[in-house]
Amino acid sequence: MLEVGEKYRHLTVLGDADNGGTLCRCDCGAVRSYSDKHIKSGRSTYCKACRYKHQSEEDCIRIAQKISDTHKKNHKNRGEGNPSAKLTTELAVRLKKQLETMTAKEVYRRYRRDVSYETIYKIAIGDTWRHV
Ligand SMILES: [Zn+2]
Repeated sequence: MLEVGEKYRHLTVLGDADNGGTLCRCDCGAVRSYSDKHIKSGRSTYCKACRYKHQSEEDCIRIAQKISDTHKKNHKNRGEGNPSAKLTTELAVRLKKQLETMTAKEVYRRYRRDVSYETIYKIAIGDTWRHV
């Protein structure tokens, strides 16, 4: 038997229920009976409607977190796997200028530490960094 007026998470004990459980009022105002065991163990922390609401909120947060993690992971992989991802606008502009007077191979020899040949070639043919 639980103390009247006692609060368990979101449930306030109102008294004994007819069915042997305990009548509780949820923070939202919904009154119904709960099993003492569930109240004490923390399994019943609010009414069904609130639990549903809170659960879907938690689900939303979890899903959002998952998307953000996946995004971060993909972003990281992209950066590691593709040297062109590290190419800055400044460097791209410089490469583009060099490509006006030199071949892609010559430019690559000069900048091979900073950028892949593929990237230079792509800039040369206008496949990437066309906007700079
Ligand atoms: Zn409620």
